[in-house]
Amino acid sequence: MPHHTPLIATLVVGLVAAFLMGALAQRLRITPLAGYLLAGVVVGPFTPGYVADTAIAAELAELGVILLMFGVGLHFSLRDLMSVRRIAVPGALVQIGVATGLGMALSYALGWTIVAGLVFGLALSVASTVVLLRALESRGLVETERGRIAVGWLIVEDLAMVLALVLLPALAQFLSGADGTGGGAALLQVLALTILKVAGFVAFMLVVGKRVIPWVLHWVVHTGSRELFRLAVLAIALGVAFGAALLFGVSFALGAFFAGMILGETRLSQRAAEETLPLRDAFAVLFFVSVGMLFDPGVVTEQPLALAATVAIIMVGKSLAAYAIVRAFGHADATAFTVSASLAQIGEFSFILAGLGVGLGLLPEEGRDLILAGAIISILLHPFMFAKVEDRRAAAKTAASAADRAARQAAEGGDAARADHVVLVGYGRVGRLIGEGLKTRGRRFVVIEEERDIAAAAQGVAEQVIVANAADPAVLVQTGIDHATKLLIAIPEGFEAGEIAERARELNPELAIIARAHSDAEVAHLVSLGAHHVVMGEREIADRMLDLAAQLRHEAKVA
Ligand code: AMP
Repeated sequence: MPHHTPLIATLVVGLVAAFLMGALAQRLRITPLAGYLLAGVVVGPFTPGYVADTAIAAELAELGVILLMFGVGLHFSLRDLMSVRRIAVPGALVQIGVATGLGMALSYALGWTIVAGLVFGLALSVASTVVLLRALESRGLVETERGRIAVGWLIVEDLAMVLALVLLPALAQFLSGADGTGGGAALLQVLALTILKVAGFVAFMLVVGKRVIPWVLHWVVHTGSRELFRLAVLAIALGVAFGAALLFGVSFALGAFFAGMILGETRLSQRAAEETLPLRDAFAVLFFVSVGMLFDPGVVTEQPLALAATVAIIMVGKSLAAYAIVRAFGHADATAFTVSASLAQIGEFSFILAGLGVGLGLLPEEGRDLILAGAIISILLHPFMFAKVEDRRAAAKTAASAADRAARQAAEGGDAARADHVVLVGYGRVGRLIGEGLKTRGRRFVVIEEERDIAAAAQGVAEQVIVANAADPAVLVQTGIDHATKLLIAIPEGFEAGEIAERARELNPELAIIARAHSDAEVAHLVSLGAHHVVMGEREIADRMLDLAAQLRHEAKVA
């Protein structure tokens, strides 16, 4: 192994191992996250064979966090953030309080100091950005009210952790000064300075960033260079995150979030999001690999009870607290379930906090091991728990709407005939024309469109509009696909359309499927996956042009 290129080695080994294990997980039909984590364990220091550089892997993972938070910021407006602050701020604070209290109780039982308990509890209280966003995205929930509450809540947790990270060294100093004189004042000073810095950063972004960033991007767009645009987006995302950390002591994640939020106010946000997507996904995978690398399997056999208690605090204690808070604020059951389930895990901040705690001598090493093992187990279990909660919700909703429909039909005096709606995927240039045609023909139809702005055009035209990716079976279920008669897939990507056709066919074997494609290969692929008709845009255009040409010749002759 070429040791003189540790960055390349870590990047390549991390990605290759993640790919192999991810593919294996896919075949076994379990979450690919499990594969990525396992890949990390394999290349980590606690298993024999090649050992990747943990420090470099952690930095690469941080890039994933930056790009993810940038993406969230792009879809999040200041208004969104403000609209959820009334629940997110008290919610996050109470949840942190409960988790910290539970962590301290466990630490007391294990015979650690009070400060060790505090660090341990804080580390258990903060959820991972990557895991939360994966969960919300898999269900198309990022831009729903529930999703916004969860993200706002996470941002408050992030801010609290920024404070905790800068306060810990001061606390250690305070504790080590035997007489403690002046320590308390120093602690307050650090606290005030940190709050000032965060406020300074936010003000800087709202005053300077808000003017400069859109201006730069508009200028770049007018140069007409796609490459330069892509570079500009990356430079803004990474530059602001790094600058925020360097100059204002804010976390990378928070810096990137603000950069994204400011860009999100411009008309270019959609393109900016698309440009960062591939890099974002690659680095998010490295995040999971780097978590796996930190895992020492020894802790499972040495401390089974303490580990079980740790996982229970993360997944049960925190969830119950979040659920109770959201309900107490008068939100619906569904909202409370989504928010509490999405936060029932820990990740990157917990590792940083645990590492710092051990480094300062505040937290025993076994505390860090428990936090790491708890993180891995919660990240592994999280997708299952989240899917269960959301499936139950979706099923309840479908059942309720089916009952509703039957009742309506009965009330209208019609014989409760089988619902025969059409499901339309994509509401862009093609989908919109189809939608309008269906409407004039008096057909009932449901639209799935992943872009919120585009989906808005279907409101009032379609019976139901779902803003999500149609390749997700849970989304298809929500449209009542099992009793639909036709599925029209009006998206330009033939291979993605194939995935949708295949899943829909599994849910309803009787369904008639019509899809759209742009190449012969896509047509063949779609037909093999059960599409009855595939319309190839280019061929239809060519045929029509030929017709028109023939017509012109005819007209010329007659004249
Ligand atoms: P157009 O090519 O203009 O007809 O637009 C196609 C539309 O399909 C765009 O608005 C996309 O956002 C949407 N779209 C593409 N893929 C998906 C998908 N997997 N699920 C839902 N909508 C999609």
